[in-house]
Amino acid sequence: MAMVIVDTCINCGNCEPTCPNQAISAGENIYVVNHERCTECVGAFDKPQCVEACPISDCITVDPAFTEPQEVLMARYQALHA
Ligand code: SF4
Ligand code: SF4
Repeated sequence: MAMVIVDTCINCGNCEPTCPNQAISAGENIYVVNHERCTECVGAFDKPQCVEACPISDCITVDPAFTEPQEVLMARYQALHA
């Protein structure tokens, strides 16, 4: 799955620089994750770095709209960093 940021986001910006795939950016109202770039940090870290950096609990969660197996996430990571 990709991650999604929910509306409890306080726009602190902590998450953006932690992403190894540049998947996070400031949106119109809150920060947003580009699901085409998010790998749940597969390929780079063993935990989603954005979640680790976010001061609001459960503000960044897995997005059930984009369920993908580990190998798809790894292939995306490799494609993004080829
Ligand atoms: Fe970026 Fe990792 Fe967060 Fe996905 S889980 S948005 S790859 S920091
Ligand atoms: Fe929003 Fe959390 Fe990112 Fe801060 S770290 S901008 S609260 S999602």
